[in-house]
Amino acid sequence: MTEQPESIVRRSRPPGSTSRPVTSALYPTVVFASADPDELDAQYEGRLAGFTYAREGHPNAVALASTLGWLEGAEHPGVVTGSGMAAVAATLLGLLEAGDHVLGADQLYGRSHRMLTDDLPRLGFQTSLADPTDVGSIEAALRPNTRALLVETVSNPTLRVADLDGIADLATDRAILLVVDNTFTTPRAIRPLEHGADVVIHSVTKILAGHSDATLGFAAARDADVQERLREAAVTWGLTPSPFDCWLAERGLHTFELRYDRAESTAAALADALAASDAVEAVFYPGRADHPDHDRARNLLGGRHGTMVGMRLKGGREIANKFIRAAAPIPFAPTLGDVSTLLSHPASSSHRRLSADDRRAMGITEGFIRISVGIEDPEILIPSLLGALGN
Ligand code: PLP
Repeated sequence: MTEQPESIVRRSRPPGSTSRPVTSALYPTVVFASADPDELDAQYEGRLAGFTYAREGHPNAVALASTLGWLEGAEHPGVVTGSGMAAVAATLLGLLEAGDHVLGADQLYGRSHRMLTDDLPRLGFQTSLADPTDVGSIEAALRPNTRALLVETVSNPTLRVADLDGIADLATDRAILLVVDNTFTTPRAIRPLEHGADVVIHSVTKILAGHSDATLGFAAARDADVQERLREAAVTWGLTPSPFDCWLAERGLHTFELRYDRAESTAAALADALAASDAVEAVFYPGRADHPDHDRARNLLGGRHGTMVGMRLKGGREIANKFIRAAAPIPFAPTLGDVSTLLSHPASSSHRRLSADDRRAMGITEGFIRISVGIEDPEILIPSLLGALGN
């Protein structure tokens, strides 16, 4: 029997049950009630376990952080954030001091690129970009006040593979924090903390959550003090996540490894099929021998080459429009890592705010299409994409 409430504004407690639900609980609460101020003090001071206010932490974020941290081989619990960009922001806001220089990769997700080139300079930080596939270029761009390096293991959208080991050695040598965005590769392919990264970042929105129904990020640091600074920055700047999104992501994660493996094997077959098409000028897939970073990918990623494929069509915007329309019902949608294959056109979406020159320098033309491979039957998917190309 449920307890009788004394008023309709009093929340009920779950009825007693000797059996328990098999799914994780969802806690959509903004706040947690403590017994008295002494108990609250003890919680804030860490003498008693417990949550206080959801922006400071809640059970669904902690549960998700624990699984993500375990996947990434993190020693300390990481922080889940309200988006991938919130994870980038929490990391940089938590670690930088006014006047510090941040060196970013010149191949980065469009918004990260924009944060480095527009927003951080506006706030008084120095920034510049260098080629993450060439450690000499990174070294040449270091300044006496370089405090952090931001690179993507495999870059969005051209799939260049960073020289992570070389950059990590350099960063360690110069006592610079190495921040690695591992969204495209995921811990299925590489765990950057084990390669010398100080912080690993994810857009959990993508293949980790996997169903395009939760917007989340994650950042885990190797050092406990660095981790605490990231967590504090996320809480102070309001970058923390909603319980429901965390709950959805935790559910999505149960199938992450299966989804990744299936999509990756389809991506490899698709890349080869596209390369044989007359309509395609170039295919970008690190698993192919014609990829400029193929050898590094093989060594660094242990044979895992990812679920993303890029291709440059012979032609510009008109040909891109034609292909994308012909490929329907495969969604043309600017995200990645969904259960469904998705097409995107970086020049009009993720990298639209870059100048045409900056895009060209990254290899992003109007005919460049990014394919996020899903878990469909490859026997149906590959012929339908080839058909849309006119093959
Ligand atoms: N990092 C990479 C590599 C991305 O591709 C994205 C988004 O596409 C982000 C970060 C930002 O993630 P979110 O959209 O969850 O803010």
